[in-house]
Amino acid sequence: MTDVKIGLETHVQLDTETKLFCGCPNEEADEPNTHVCETCLGHPGSKPRLNEEVVNQAVKASEALDCEVNEDVFFSRKTYFYPDMSKNYQITQYEIPVGEDGEKQIKVGDEKKEVGIKRIHIEEDPAKMKHVGGNVSDSDYSKVDYNRAGTPLIEIVTDPDFRSPKEARAYLQQLAQMMQYLGLYRPESDFSIKTDANVSIEGGERVEVKNITGTKDIEKALNYEISRQKQWKKRGREVEQHTRSFNQGTGATEAMREKETEEDYGYIFDPDLTRQELDEELRTRIKESLPELPQEKFERFKEEYGLKDKLVESLITEASLAEDFEELAEEFNSSLVASWMSGDLKKVLNYNELTYSESGLDFESIQYMLDLISEEKISDRNAEMLLREVVGEERRPEEIVEEEDLLKADESEIDSFVEAAIDENRDAVEDFESGEEEAINFLVGQVMQKSQGKADPKTAREKILEVLED
Ligand SMILES: [Zn+2]
Repeated sequence: MTDVKIGLETHVQLDTETKLFCGCPNEEADEPNTHVCETCLGHPGSKPRLNEEVVNQAVKASEALDCEVNEDVFFSRKTYFYPDMSKNYQITQYEIPVGEDGEKQIKVGDEKKEVGIKRIHIEEDPAKMKHVGGNVSDSDYSKVDYNRAGTPLIEIVTDPDFRSPKEARAYLQQLAQMMQYLGLYRPESDFSIKTDANVSIEGGERVEVKNITGTKDIEKALNYEISRQKQWKKRGREVEQHTRSFNQGTGATEAMREKETEEDYGYIFDPDLTRQELDEELRTRIKESLPELPQEKFERFKEEYGLKDKLVESLITEASLAEDFEELAEEFNSSLVASWMSGDLKKVLNYNELTYSESGLDFESIQYMLDLISEEKISDRNAEMLLREVVGEERRPEEIVEEEDLLKADESEIDSFVEAAIDENRDAVEDFESGEEEAINFLVGQVMQKSQGKADPKTAREKILEVLED
């Protein structure tokens, strides 16, 4: 196997009310360049004011990733010239970030792995460029939208600890899940997670791959880049240090520019933002307020409910799903709730490409459906159909049950279906009586059809046998 080293730098856009250094709303706007002021437009003489909430969130992420939180943090100016950063420098943290030397345990398949977290720092997002009529190199002209300028980010930088694209993907997914538990990220929001990856093979120079959005493309981007470097070496060439961009459309990485070294940016402390003190009291308060994180929840669910690994993993994918599971498990049989949530529910959500929180399914609807299932008032088939309609059409389950008559038939109704099936299918009855046992399946099918899913096959079979064997 090729010796591969991968390190990741993940930017999490924070969903705060206002931007990092000004009071502009931190949200998408209908019109470009409307959520702006002199500070986020970088007018000379404007002064940044630090949004405390961002600092708290960065400390939260640092504590959750077992980082050392620095007592005094500073901000630096990273100098570069590009239209997306009109003041010609980006405010970030360089010398002293919020958190350093952390660790994240991840699961890759059945294996556990420790990933070193080098640092977590705060920085501002630049403006958004729109290249009209093409991409950055061949468009006719470009437009800049400063609505995004100044959106707060935390950047989480790992050590080069990943040995395969699969490990990198596992980390990114589990990191995103952790950020969601911490309330710093919602997959359904407009705020995104973006990752840059540093990749080297066989001790060669590292190549930086930028622009990997979300958690799904990471493995694809890395696989492409690794095989590209392998091919390059095969032809006897050395991989040189440079920056590439991942193209989501083609799944390829494309050369962008020579990689700048840190000296090129000429970091200096920002004199407008004085020392920020993260005192003991703040750190303790945040540490103590951390919610139960996915890994801890996983262990506890296994222990408390005696559920299989796969089932627990499925239940803890989203914090809200896990919370509702626990509440429902007090009222209903916990295995029933777990298998319903990770089975039928997940199937319907996946089909509609929704997360649990996006689906808008309310707790009372779920209680109602689980009650029908646990009291065996509805057949499996109809229970699944009901859920599909509740999610897909956003209707109340009570209404659907009533309108479509979905509850199980009562005894006398089933008896009449059985009687009719037997009367109308004398051939099948004769076949059964002459020893062809499979003929009963046909009769069961007839009863099911007549009942439109309101009978369950087991009861139907028993009742048919009762009549035929009399
Ligand atoms: Zn502003």
